[in-house]
Amino acid sequence: MREPRPLTSYRLADLLADIVDHVRPAFGKGKVAGYIPELAKVNPRKFGIAVATLDGADVAAGDADEPFSLQSVTKLFALQLALNRGGDDIWTRVGKEPSGTAFNHLAILEAEQGTPRNPFVNAGALTVTDYLMGRSGDVAKLVLEYIRASAGGISGDIDEAVAASEIATAHQNRAIAHILKVHGTIDHAPDAVVNAYCRQCAITASVRDLARAALPLAMDGFSLHSGESILAQRMVRRVNAVMMTCGMYDSTGSFAYRVGLPAKSGVGGGIVAVAPGLGSIAVWSPELDRAGNSLVGTIALELFAQNTHWSVL
Ligand code: GLU
Repeated sequence: MREPRPLTSYRLADLLADIVDHVRPAFGKGKVAGYIPELAKVNPRKFGIAVATLDGADVAAGDADEPFSLQSVTKLFALQLALNRGGDDIWTRVGKEPSGTAFNHLAILEAEQGTPRNPFVNAGALTVTDYLMGRSGDVAKLVLEYIRASAGGISGDIDEAVAASEIATAHQNRAIAHILKVHGTIDHAPDAVVNAYCRQCAITASVRDLARAALPLAMDGFSLHSGESILAQRMVRRVNAVMMTCGMYDSTGSFAYRVGLPAKSGVGGGIVAVAPGLGSIAVWSPELDRAGNSLVGTIALELFAQNTHWSVL
């Protein structure tokens, strides 16, 4: 078995700088998400990468300190909150299987009587948001505060313009929420759930923030910033497992094949990956591949895994 290379055997900063150079030719091959009008305004040729390590250091390159729209990456933190607040309760409403369909697919939800396949497709994430609404008046704020606490502070916030832009056009998510309501999967009014979910998705952070926020998932739930456990070890295992099998939309399998790390992506172009016992990596580049994952970000993570052997493969 190959051993992960200890960070002292090469210079992480040099590797990240090399990755910034290597990914450049891939600009222009993907497409920025246009279905949320406000997101379409972003400069497509941005790229940032950051790595947080167990000693509390972070190393970054490119546009690593620019906050961007986290979108579905927030589902990773909302799930942690649901597990934190209610233990395994959430699994009575949401499954743990890959969906094999697009993140906002409707048909499978209807066929399966309103039980979402997993917490990372929109149906599952809306259900998690609804669950958290039973525990907090402002779910977006709750998720933001959790990200802040995990990271030890972040440079982003809730981007109300992005939230309003998505709320105005969230017809598919509204349809999903209504199906969830018909089947009793969510408790609150569908429109209220969609609005809370869109505000949660509109949280912004930089890749440096994001890598730090995910570090507890590489450390059995321990937060270096608060000096205490923020998530029970067995919950961390569940979260990482569901990321590994469901975190990258309908190309989770090929992502695992190429990168071999649990990861969660968002249509804002962010991806966060966890290497248990080693560290966490965040990338951002807005152009997406056909599955909705950052095209350049995936290439960057593949290069990172190849060079560091931070991988389950
Ligand atoms: N707010 C987005 C939506 O529900 C998030 C999608 C994503 O990042 O995958 O359409």
